[in-house]
Amino acid sequence: MKHLLYDDFPAEIGRLFSERGLPSFRAKQINEWLGKCALDFSQMTNLPIALREDLMQEFDLNAFRDVTVIQSKLDDTRKYFFTLRDGEHIEAVLLHYHHGYSVCVSTQAGCKMGCKFCASSACGFGRDLTCGEILSELVAITADMRKTTPDFRIGHIVLMGIGEPLDNYDNVLRFLRLAMDEERFGIGARNISLSTCGLVDKIAKLAEENIPLTLSISLHAPTDLKRDAIMPVNRRFPLAALIDACRDYDRKTGRRISFEYALIAGENDSVEDAKTLANLLRGLDCHVNLIPVNEVPGAPYRTARENQRLLFTNTLEKCKINVTVRRTLGADIEAACGQLRRAANNTAN
Ligand code: SF4
Repeated sequence: MKHLLYDDFPAEIGRLFSERGLPSFRAKQINEWLGKCALDFSQMTNLPIALREDLMQEFDLNAFRDVTVIQSKLDDTRKYFFTLRDGEHIEAVLLHYHHGYSVCVSTQAGCKMGCKFCASSACGFGRDLTCGEILSELVAITADMRKTTPDFRIGHIVLMGIGEPLDNYDNVLRFLRLAMDEERFGIGARNISLSTCGLVDKIAKLAEENIPLTLSISLHAPTDLKRDAIMPVNRRFPLAALIDACRDYDRKTGRRISFEYALIAGENDSVEDAKTLANLLRGLDCHVNLIPVNEVPGAPYRTARENQRLLFTNTLEKCKINVTVRRTLGADIEAACGQLRRAANNTAN
């Protein structure tokens, strides 16, 4: 595959061009085009045609062979299904909130973590994405949206699509720094949220990176026994170690931790579970997000009933735990992350 220019920082593009004997203003022009989310060298009309043709031989601007967009009929949510240059599939979701646009990106094609309720793990692991491929999800979405909304800007990024971000640590860190770069998307760390199933060693490393993003933990169970049954990662990093790592992260970054908890009927949604959860989180500056479990075809998990969810929420509130029930956007296309990839892989097999 050709070198993807979105993998590089502006200064690295400067070096690539100077190694090829090209003047620095050419690198500056290319960086300006990358800042405008260009996907084709033919857009770069201020560059000589011969230079564009030379660049095309060596470099790629588009990380994707194909992009399918699914628009919600209920609201502004759009789901993007990408085919990468080597045929792997990933997904991203564009969400419209009152404070602006947020994009949920994938960080790997597939996932190795094997969470039992998740569609992403059901068809295995393809490969890690490069930093430029993750960034290209933002680029492709911006380019698509600007066809109808010229001043479209992404305000927030959520790393909660396909893959475990901290299992692709180096590429994800580079992606974060690229997305924050003023010459690319200029998105502040406070507008970035990274979701992990709980790789404790990597959470400790992330706390030292000086990127004060919001850490979101996919918790989903209040005891080791229950968590072991649905999230194999818990056998490697049990709850006590995970909560310790969260306390350290909070202390070092000053950022409140967010816990995702999918209420699964009969598994983790009792009042007793809520009390155990409140005990586990006691004293930690945190927030619990209750979400409906994705009802993945073939998996036995069903989302908790409304009255059970209310009981669970009230119990947490009585124990002074901040809790919200996540608002569902794009309910008609809310096919859980990974389900489109799974469908595509099944068709290919
Ligand atoms: S929930 Fe996240 S970490 Fe677990 S299998 Fe799915 S994508 Fe991987």
